[in-house]
Order: sequence, then structure tokens, then C-alpha cells
Amino acid sequence: MAATDDKPEIRLVAHCRRCHGWLVSAASVSEGIGPTCAIRERAEQRAEAARELTLFDVTGSSAA
Ligand SMILES: [Zn+2]
Repeated sequence: MAATDDKPEIRLVAHCRRCHGWLVSAASVSEGIGPTCAIRERAEQRAEAARELTLFDVTGSSAA
């Protein structure tokens, strides 16, 4: 008797690129990041963009 251990179990296993937690939803797996971390990442990107705008504004006003 041969042990059939080749179950066709295809499972998408991925970890969040931010917190390395398990991703459970297909959308999160395709994005590589969990929903909570996606929100945090977006907020950080927005804060970074705002900081760049502020720096640009300061540079522009000092030129006058
Ligand atoms: Zn995460």
C-alpha cells in the first residue's frame, strides 16, 4: 500500500510585507499586505508627501 500524500491542496500562503502576519483574504495576498497595514502604509505615504510639500514650501518662501 502506497501512502498517497500528494493532495492537490493549492493554498496561497503569504505574509504581510509590513508586519509579516498571515494574509487570509485573497485581496490581501495579491497585494502582499494586510488591510490594516495597507491603511497604515497609505497614511505614511500621505504624511511623507505632505512633508515634501512642506519642505518645498519652506524652500520656496526662503528664496524670496
Ligand atoms: Zn501587516
